[in-house]
Amino acid sequence: MFRTNTCGELTQANINEKVTLSGWVSTLRDKGFMVWIDLRDRYGITQIILDEDRSSKELFETARKLGREFVIQVSGTVIERASKNPNIPTGEIEILADSITILNESALPPFTIDDNTDGGEDIRMKYRYLDIRRNPVKNKLIFRSKVAQEVRKYLDAQDFVEVETPVLIKSTPEGARDFVVPSRMNPGEFYALPQSPQTFKQLLMVGGLDKYFQIVKCFRDEDLRADRQPEFTQIDCEMSFVEQEDIMNVFEGLAKHLLHTFKGLEFGDFPRMTFADAMRRYGNDKPDIRFGMEFGEITDLAKGHDFKIFDEQELIVGIAAEGCNSYTRKDIDKLIEWVQRPQIAATGLVWVRCNEDGTYKSSVDKFYTQEDLAAWAERMNAKAGDLLLVMSGNTNKVRAQLSALRMEIAERLGLRKPDEFAPLWVVDFPLLEWDEESERYHAMHHPFTSPKPEDMELIDSNPGEVRANAYDLVLNGNEIGGGSIRIFDKNIQARMFELLGFTAEQAEAQFGFLMNAFKYGAPPHGGLAFGFDRFVSILDGSETIRDYIAFPKNNSGRDVMIDAPAAIDQTQMDELFIQSNVVEK
Ligand code: ASP
Repeated sequence: MFRTNTCGELTQANINEKVTLSGWVSTLRDKGFMVWIDLRDRYGITQIILDEDRSSKELFETARKLGREFVIQVSGTVIERASKNPNIPTGEIEILADSITILNESALPPFTIDDNTDGGEDIRMKYRYLDIRRNPVKNKLIFRSKVAQEVRKYLDAQDFVEVETPVLIKSTPEGARDFVVPSRMNPGEFYALPQSPQTFKQLLMVGGLDKYFQIVKCFRDEDLRADRQPEFTQIDCEMSFVEQEDIMNVFEGLAKHLLHTFKGLEFGDFPRMTFADAMRRYGNDKPDIRFGMEFGEITDLAKGHDFKIFDEQELIVGIAAEGCNSYTRKDIDKLIEWVQRPQIAATGLVWVRCNEDGTYKSSVDKFYTQEDLAAWAERMNAKAGDLLLVMSGNTNKVRAQLSALRMEIAERLGLRKPDEFAPLWVVDFPLLEWDEESERYHAMHHPFTSPKPEDMELIDSNPGEVRANAYDLVLNGNEIGGGSIRIFDKNIQARMFELLGFTAEQAEAQFGFLMNAFKYGAPPHGGLAFGFDRFVSILDGSETIRDYIAFPKNNSGRDVMIDAPAAIDQTQMDELFIQSNVVEK
């Protein structure tokens, strides 16, 4: 037997018991007449002690061979500690060792296995298995596991069936590029890895399963903006004979259950906002509503004052940064530089100080009177002491830019509190969005999303105005889930493919299986998927999903630990009928 107990459970109640523990040597202190070893396992740390009076010479010899991260087995007696450590559960006891067995040696670890390690991000990623020995990493994985179990329990109790769907499939359009896998048995043909199990879960509804869920890996080959992972996990769900309201109720229930179980929070009905309102009020379809700083549009007020820059713009809009009148000219210049960085790419920023005495001082005083500026301040809900930050430009662009600035100001003002939770449903998304590059409509959610029946008449005359039965669940400014009611009529689905620029042949080649299935009595259905990694991290008060993934990829999509992706050898290439065009440098 390797152990009678774990390293995290022995207390005063166990005094005088003979125990055996196994674990890693965390620290070793040798005072000559005494040796202390901190023995660590997943459950905690227990202090082992050897002393001259009570321990044998051989035991001291073994102890002195130990190094950090050696794996050892220790047997001994639980005794009371002379100097107690109130910070750990085992801090009142120690184990007087009678025997120590070295189960395995360890090379010197490249960083200290400590809560506050000396290892930088890169080295810790390379040796992720060592990083996982550290509490902050390990605890996040345990937290994730607990959330997953709770999700399963909740959905199982509501009769959802967990079904595994295949990983080697054909493209599912979720708006990213596919990862593809060459087929050896079908030369020149490729599988795609699922961007989500979308079409399969719809087929399961045609199959009559009624309520499906799966905690499932999804794969999207996209440029990795901060905190995205090429493979990530969804809680993927689908239900039959439901309307939008039914789906929202079930999954609001799940979200509430998780917020209650893990945060002890109770919520009433989650607020809802239309996509159009979210864009107008926050410039963003996933607004963080933990704080205000809503947009104030002043296009009508600001145009026609000979300020040429504004006169030429589609939208003029601003926010009131609370208490930021204290910003110095230099601070403001820095802010202007911040919005001009390529990531935001704003041309500039007009500012207005709301002075305590009720006067205004702005960068555009030449063009606007005190009354003009007071009217702006009112639109932005500003108080004395605030600083108005105003941007102008093309509606969509300027909204995105001001939204980024709003988040930045909130961050600086400490308004994005990780222990505060503000869920929000965003509804009535447009069905389609215009893509400038390809000069075509794209599905805003995905091509299987149902238009709102009342907007169907616009589908030919003004497709951009058609709203979808689609909804996102937003938590603290992050989209944690999204879904839609699906098209289940094969003719509407065919029309949708046509709108998206597929020829009938292309639609047939790519999605014939789905349209064919729809011929055989497809029930009305809809669903949603939660981004599991993100949901877990936000629940745990963090926004870094990488920390909640055991073996994450870096920003270039690499796993630096196993060094993937990697070249494959020529035989393997030949077997797959593949040639590389990459020229060796
Ligand atoms: N498949 C969708 C996604 O991955 C979710 C859904 O519509 O259920 O975003």
